[in-house]
Amino acid sequence: MSNHLFDLIRDRLPADPAGHLFLEVPGGLRWSYADLLAESARYAAALVGLGVKPGDRVAVQVEKSPAVIALYLGCVRAGAAFLPLNTGYTAAEIGYFLGDAEPALFVCDPARRDALAPVAEGAGVAQVGTLDADGAGTMAAEAAGQTGGFADVARGPDDLAAILYTSGTTGRSKGAMLSHDNLASNALTLVEHWRFTADDVLIHALPVFHTHGLFVATNTVLMAGAAMLFLPRLDPAAILALMPRATAMMGVPTFYTRLLREPGLTPEATKGMRLFVSGSAPLLAETHRDWQARTGHAILERYGMTETNMNTSNPYEGDRVAGTVGFPLPGVDLRVVDPETGRALGPDEVGMIEVRGPNVFKGYWRMPEKTAAEFKADGFFITGDLGKVDGRGYVHIVGRGKDLIITGGYNVYPKEVETEIDALPGVLESAVIGLAHKDFGEGVTAIVVARPGAEAPTEAGILAALESRLAKFKQPKRILFVDELPRNTMGKVQKNLLRDAHKDLYG
Ligand code: ATP
Ligand code: MG
Repeated sequence: MSNHLFDLIRDRLPADPAGHLFLEVPGGLRWSYADLLAESARYAAALVGLGVKPGDRVAVQVEKSPAVIALYLGCVRAGAAFLPLNTGYTAAEIGYFLGDAEPALFVCDPARRDALAPVAEGAGVAQVGTLDADGAGTMAAEAAGQTGGFADVARGPDDLAAILYTSGTTGRSKGAMLSHDNLASNALTLVEHWRFTADDVLIHALPVFHTHGLFVATNTVLMAGAAMLFLPRLDPAAILALMPRATAMMGVPTFYTRLLREPGLTPEATKGMRLFVSGSAPLLAETHRDWQARTGHAILERYGMTETNMNTSNPYEGDRVAGTVGFPLPGVDLRVVDPETGRALGPDEVGMIEVRGPNVFKGYWRMPEKTAAEFKADGFFITGDLGKVDGRGYVHIVGRGKDLIITGGYNVYPKEVETEIDALPGVLESAVIGLAHKDFGEGVTAIVVARPGAEAPTEAGILAALESRLAKFKQPKRILFVDELPRNTMGKVQKNLLRDAHKDLYG
């Protein structure tokens, strides 16, 4: 019997699974590929023993540990849909997700079991299991009690492998239904595109409840038969210490800005590394340049979403252009259209990005109207991101549709204003938002973080500097200063929080 995703992983195992490292927690556990096969079989058998049936959801809110990967693959092998949840979610939020997803089993941290078990019960979830940051708990005990192998449950390319909730940056998180082939096809593409082989060792310091750490990083490693060094969280000093043993790293932009503050980041420290990938949020062109100056490596920026896996990537060979997300990946169709008319736009014209391909999800869980509204008749998915394709074919993201500012009837793309402000002396970074304004509909407003140690910029100074650089309607009405921008765990600036905090600025 075939299990589409797991068979592909099996087909690509390294030559000597028992002798080939899959995962190491530095200073702790080490799993070979043979261990991974055995552990995931034990978790699959444990799931079946707990009554999980093919097509069931298994919701999981636990700290990062190798056991999470065994549980994920156990779900895939048992034909269930893995449904990881952000470790930051409160009991009330968990209640919403469990009620929405109706999983057969909910796995949580043992420390939160007493608080969350009643929530799970209230949502009608039959079973609650536990796993802690060391991979111990009732699930581990169930798995350890299993003997022998596991006959993988038959699953086809279109069967669900996971439901992943979006980050909730622009509103309530939506459950994206991802099939076996959505995940498999994208991982195979990335292995090839980014030249992953069984000799690679990836530094993995991302969370595993999000597409970046779970699918982009882990599935790519699995499909290449490569290894990963598993850190519980971003720890710049620990990452630097691991670089001599590693070949690649994937991170959100914060990884790069934090590592740049380490004096130990030098060409010597990174000389064994062949690839640094950034995504999940825009990488400042300045960070790209600083990184290249400090290490000699050009960060490879790519663009994806929970719903689509990865859509575009800068080239492995060829120019990795700062401030762009590169070209559509092989097999991915990408177009930029006028959001009003749907007309396809030409080079350098800004509009809505739409994508189509084997990577694009099956729809939002239990939201048929939302799903129907986000797909075009010809199968293209409306990403919600605004961007353009330049004359060389590089895709640029200019921001989210929901962040577009309409002031006095004119469209203002926040990124354009942010880029000008960020280039001013004394400015570290900025976020430009629209706030309700009685004359203009929305007033362009800049929230600015000053560069530590530099002479503090002033509102009047920034406004004066922008006068010659931006058309009048794009110039902010006000500049506000903050110590840092609110970001979520994936390094995304939470503009909704900024809009809320300042909603009455213009009365
Ligand atoms: P929600 O859909 O719930 O509002 P979200 O869109 O932030 O949350 P994710 O699926 O985690 O949830 O993020 C996908 C989004 O991240 C993309 O639509 C895009 O806006 C942004 N993104 C990802 N990579 C990049 C990148 N390299 N540059 C700019 N933006 C990026
Ligand atoms: Mg989104």
